[in-house]
Amino acid sequence: MSLQKTLSIIKPDAYKAGHTNAINSMIENAGLIIVKKKELQLTKEQAQKFYSVHSEKPFYDELCDFMISGPIIVQMLEGKDAINLYRKVMGATNPEEAEENTIRKKFANSIQENAVHGSDSEENAVKELEFFFNEN
Ligand code: GDP
Repeated sequence: MSLQKTLSIIKPDAYKAGHTNAINSMIENAGLIIVKKKELQLTKEQAQKFYSVHSEKPFYDELCDFMISGPIIVQMLEGKDAINLYRKVMGATNPEEAEENTIRKKFANSIQENAVHGSDSEENAVKELEFFFNEN
């Protein structure tokens, strides 16, 4: 597998609960490098744009409100097979289905407040890194 970059977000629930360092240790222990990192608070417009793929879903409005409810950390991760590797470290979207020793199993509150985001494909990683870092 080739060297890849992917986007990671520490969502408002995990940031607020003080889990950022513990989550980043799990990311680094998996062999991923945190190349860039910044803290910000999304506007409603940014959240709606970022999650526009879900705009028809019943949870879209609630999801956008959650994502603007507090500061987040956005990060560029790099490593071999980074996209899939980070998705594995994150665990399933629904923490009840997440495997042991995954970020979501340990830190997620619910299917919505699930601690972290990670790009799900090479195409989306490029788009999402561009969204936050204007590069890929
Ligand atoms: P991910 O790639 O694992 O983050 O999952 P998705 O792309 O399917 O969903 C994006 C985000 O929407 C998830 O991380 C959750 O925060 C939220 N989400 C997904 N499914 C649900 C749901 O059924 N209900 C609610 N309230 N939020 C959801």
